[in-house]
This record gives sequence, structure tokens and C-alpha cells, in this order.
Amino acid sequence: MIWCFASNGTYSSQSLYRIINFRGIIPVHVLAIWSLKIPPRVHLFLWLLAKNKLLTRDNLNIRKKLDDVTCLFCSEIESAHHLFFDCVFSRQIWAMISECLGVNIGDNFTSVAAMWLSNKCFLAHNIITSAALWSLWKLRNEFCFQNASWRDVRGVLMRIVSTAQNWLILCPEGAKDMLSHKLSNLKLIVTRLGRISG
Ligand SMILES: [Zn+2]
Repeated sequence: MIWCFASNGTYSSQSLYRIINFRGIIPVHVLAIWSLKIPPRVHLFLWLLAKNKLLTRDNLNIRKKLDDVTCLFCSEIESAHHLFFDCVFSRQIWAMISECLGVNIGDNFTSVAAMWLSNKCFLAHNIITSAALWSLWKLRNEFCFQNASWRDVRGVLMRIVSTAQNWLILCPEGAKDMLSHKLSNLKLIVTRLGRISG
């Protein structure tokens, strides 16, 4: 039997209290965010995402009625879950990242954040998944506020690669080679995608 709410897999009343006190699994992931080797502004972004406090259109619509609550990449309603995981565009990004990392990332916040709880084992994975979420949010904001023109999936994947490369400096020495290797893999996948579509 493994107690999955503690990093050592062992039950303790302290870990149970933490779950009850914060009402469930999401706050455990919220706590894990702060140990990720990413810039502080991205910690904050992920924390807002975990708490569903990002200013996505569905959340904005609760505060003030919006004329348009649709996703900037498709015609569905924009929620955090839709934007980051369920959108046809995001699904393609996660499929490529799953292929690059050699694990099925899943299709929701909980499945991505589950790996954050084991940050020692999945350090490189966690930097890449954080870079993916951050890049999707930045792209969405460029569409929303700067009338950015459409970029294909390859462009976004390359952006994720360069974002994670910029964070290499935050990565502990022992994991830098693994992260560089995974990023080279992702670049290869993007190049191959270019050959297929081009
Ligand atoms: Zn969409």
C-alpha cells in the first residue's frame, strides 16, 4: 500500500491533515508548485491556474458579463481546462510533449501536476510541462491583447523549447543533461512534423 499524498509514500496524520485542511488533492499540487525549478513569475502563474484564478474568459464573465467568452483558438467556451488541455490546439501540443518525454502526460491539470509531486524524479519533465503551460498562456494573451497572428503547432513547440532552455540556469547540475536531451528530442519531433506537413 502506498500513500500517494506524501513524497515518501508513507501515511502520516500530518499529510492527512494537510489534505483535509485544504479540502482535497489540488492544494497538494499547489504546494508542489513552489519546488519547481522555474522563474518566480511562473510559480505564481501555476498557482493561479491551480486555484482556477487565472483571468480566462469564463472567470472574467463571472465578474463582468462579456460579449464573447469563446476560446481564442477555437469556438468553445474558454475555461482554464479548455484552454490548457481540452482545446484541439492544446491537445496537439500535449501529444507531442508526451511523445518527447516518453510518458502519457494525460489531458488535465491533475495528471500534469501529479508529476510535480515527484519533482526529484521528474525534474526535466516538470520544467518542460511548466514551460508548455506558460507558453500557451503567453500565446493566448498575445492573441487577446496584441492581435498576434496565427502560429502553427510547430511554432508553439519551438517556443516551449526556447522557454525551457532559458530556464536551464535554474536546473540543478545533475539534471541539466537530461533536460537538454529531452529538449533536443522535442526539437527533432518538431523538425519531423515540418517534413510531414511541408
Ligand atoms: Zn479552444
